[in-house]
Parts: sequence; structure tokens; C-alpha cells
Amino acid sequence: MKTADHDHLQSSSRRRLARQACAFAVFAAFAVCFLLAPQWIRAQNSPPAGQLRIYSIDVEGGQSTLLVGPSGSSLLVDTGWPGNNGRDAERILGAMHDAGIKRIDHVLITHFHTDHVGGVPELVAHVEVGEFLDHGENREDAADTRNNYATYLKAIAGHQRRIVHPGDTIPIDGLSVVVLTADGEHIGAVPGIEPVPNPYCASEHAWPDDPTENSRSAGILVIFGKFKFLDLGDLTGKKEVALVCPNNPIGTVDLYLVTHHGMDWSNSRAIVDAVHPRVAIMNNGAHKAGMPAAWQIVHDSPGLIDLWQLHTAEGSDAAHNSPEWLIANPKGDGDGHALKVVALPDGSFSVTNTRTGMTKQYPRK
Ligand SMILES: [Zn+2]
Repeated sequence: MKTADHDHLQSSSRRRLARQACAFAVFAAFAVCFLLAPQWIRAQNSPPAGQLRIYSIDVEGGQSTLLVGPSGSSLLVDTGWPGNNGRDAERILGAMHDAGIKRIDHVLITHFHTDHVGGVPELVAHVEVGEFLDHGENREDAADTRNNYATYLKAIAGHQRRIVHPGDTIPIDGLSVVVLTADGEHIGAVPGIEPVPNPYCASEHAWPDDPTENSRSAGILVIFGKFKFLDLGDLTGKKEVALVCPNNPIGTVDLYLVTHHGMDWSNSRAIVDAVHPRVAIMNNGAHKAGMPAAWQIVHDSPGLIDLWQLHTAEGSDAAHNSPEWLIANPKGDGDGHALKVVALPDGSFSVTNTRTGMTKQYPRK
């Protein structure tokens, strides 16, 4: 027994020593990596090669969408609201941190409404920006919008500013980013895409003129191999129809940022059905947009698999909201959870609800 106990003790202490040696070896290996190879650590934070990442950042009913291309080159579409102790800049920084980027190469301001351009002063206070892009001077005769434009010009003084027109491109390694609409004008054809007659134009109703900045929205098509993403800012019905009727220059898309946060002044059937998104993300607020008629049009569009939402549209009913697992912020405002898309050039992509950590895969077509 003694021998057996002794042997047992010996072997258990040997095992303990072996475990300690292993633990030390693992620790030492990590320490060596940290001390000798900081570039290895950085590599873990930089965007994986071959991926496009898109963050639909929750700015409580505004727009802020961060795109990070396969080489780490980046585009931020809109900056959310001003105020709230820099809330929206902080949320943009959160997405940048997740993507492993330290600066934003291009910021596109779709138009000069507060929920899109209002966050610029706080953004430039915290983030290095390569250039600002916009559709040119404010066209809306309203005190708030004039003030937004003046504040924007002041905030970006010293930065490079470029006015974009339909057909212009935004240079991001590995991506083709084409401006479809700007200042009320639109593109006739996208290089590499054959415009096709749009069968949904015949049944589209007439839309009123819109004298606001919404109709001037700079809208983009992002092409990454076989993957296509459409973001038209707050473009309203008449300009949507002008863009895709009688011929649709966009073709179909994989991901559609629901225009104008799901307002029913936008999202005409003629465009939503024609671009035939596989997945849509609606950047509504808890108490802003996500209107039932627009929700229904997107939900019913042919080929749509899922309609993700940044918030439950609390003024709407359960029949006009997606199930909770598709919603980043199901209750009220303030939580700030984003939806994160990772796309591959073969056209496959995933969407992650950062609240739940759940990821859904969408295979290539
Ligand atoms: Zn808006």
C-alpha cells in the first residue's frame, strides 16, 4: 500500500509538475509572441483578407453605415445625430474597433438632414478622416438644414472635400463603389451592368415632387465580386422611380439598406421589387420610421429571405415587425446594438446581431 501510495503520490506530483511545465510553456510562448512579434498581434485586429464588412450602426433612427473593404480601406456613409455626449461618434468608434481600423478613408454625407450630417463635428473630434464626399451645396430652404450645412462646412474645414455626381466612384481597394444618385440626378448605366426593362414600372403610382434634401440624397451601389449592396440614403419615391424606370440600371442586389429608415415616402415597389434584395436591413428608430406600408413592401419583395431591423418599430404592430431575433434593439432606445455583415466575393454573406451574437449565413446564389 505504502509503495502504491508513494507511487501514486510520485505520479500525481509528476503530473502536477508536467501540468505546471506545460502551463509555463504556453505562457512563455504567448509572452514571446507578445514581446517579439507585435505585428502578429496587430494582424489579429486587421480585417481578414478577402472580406467586406458592413456595420449598420445604431444611431437611433439616423444613418451611419461603416464599410471596411478587404484591405482595410474604409467608407462611412453618414454620421448620425449631434449631441447626446458624442453618442453616435462613440458608436462609430465601436464599429471601427471591431473592424480593427484607426481612421476612416472616406465619409459620404448622403444629404444635409440632422440625422445624417449632424454627427460630423463629433466624428472629426475623435477620428482621422481622409476625405468628405457630398452632393454639393444644401438645396433645402429650411433654417435647420441651412444651419446643418453651415455647421458641416465649418467642421470639415482643413479636410479634403469632394462633390460627387452620378457615375463617380469612391476608391476602395477590392470594391467598386459607384455613385448612383446625387443632387437630384441619377445614373443611366453602371459600368459592367446591362440596364434591363423594369416590369414593375407599369403598375407604379405617381409620386409627388419632394423639395427637401431627401430627394438630393447621394446613393451608392457597392460591388464586391458577386456581392452587391445598395444604400440610397433617404431618396424619396419620385427619384427612386426615375432611377429604375423604364430601365433598371442596378440589376438585383444581395443586401438592401431600406431607404429612408423605412419611411413610406420612399421604398416604392418599382425599385424594391426590381432590385430583388435577398436580405434587407432597416435602420429605423424605436419611434421613428419603420412604417407599416414600407415594411410590408420590403417584406413582400420577391426573393427576400430576411428583413433585419435596428429597432422594433414601437408605433407599429407585431404584424409589421420582424421576429425578435432579427432585431438588434427590441426594446426602446439607448442600447446601441449594431448589425454586422460579412460578405465574400463569391456572393455569400452573413449577418450578425451584435445583441445576441447570433449569426445567420446566406449562401452564394
Ligand atoms: Zn434620415
